[in-house]
Amino acid sequence: MAEPPASGWRRIAALKVESELTHWRRLGLRPRLWWRDDDAREPTDALDRLLVIAGGRPLALAVVPAGDLHPLAVRLTGERSVSIGQHGVDHVNRRPAGEVKSEYGHPPPIDLLTDSLNAGKARLEAAGLAPSFYTPPWNAIDSGLPRAVRRVGYPMLSAGADRVLYSGLHYTSAEIDVLAWKGGARSKGAMRIMTMIGQALAERRRSAEYERPVGLLTHHLDHDEATWRFLAWSMEWFDTRFDWISTDQLLRHQPAPTAAARLSGGIEPMAQPVGV
Ligand SMILES: [Zn+2]
Repeated sequence: MAEPPASGWRRIAALKVESELTHWRRLGLRPRLWWRDDDAREPTDALDRLLVIAGGRPLALAVVPAGDLHPLAVRLTGERSVSIGQHGVDHVNRRPAGEVKSEYGHPPPIDLLTDSLNAGKARLEAAGLAPSFYTPPWNAIDSGLPRAVRRVGYPMLSAGADRVLYSGLHYTSAEIDVLAWKGGARSKGAMRIMTMIGQALAERRRSAEYERPVGLLTHHLDHDEATWRFLAWSMEWFDTRFDWISTDQLLRHQPAPTAAARLSGGIEPMAQPVGV
């Protein structure tokens, strides 16, 4: 289906998001928006295009700590609004075809998992790309991962909509994935993206989690032209309705972990979230 022109995006946004935003305005509140982009390894034309569109807005770039990371570090020098996340270890799927993807064929013992995360973190740091959070490829929260992330020293884990509660570890969703993946990456389309944004806002309002940001998720290497057009259009639309929040701001102002997480000393998810 062809993407609508900007007027079409505005009309669909009005249909799916604006009435929810009216509730927020009545409360005197503006929702927060956190933006994560995945799979960076090196400077590319797509990364340049992403940074131009971002235009200095906060962007959390999830970097795969494999290969020579120095060219990426050089490219990002001076990009003060870009924060770095560790995106797994090597982004290689070790699960059989048809299963939910993960870098681990079987969840490794906690010490091995911690060592492998630590090695990736060290590679990022050696290149000058100091990471401030961890995000697993395909949103795969393997057993033991939250504990390993905490042991490595990260204050924050980010994956999909299914929240992970673990003592001392903040969780930030990036659930507004603008791409549809089945059969090849392409834009999810205006109706689905705006419906997801409206639902994320309603969920936060109904649970009074006004400070919990809505997470926008992009993958610059996989964008089709419709996705680039959406992003270019959406920046100002977001500007006038949301407060962009950087990873640093998020970590400074995060509410304390929930009572449930504190009482249990950490809850790990029973099921692996589905995602990309
Ligand atoms: Zn990825």
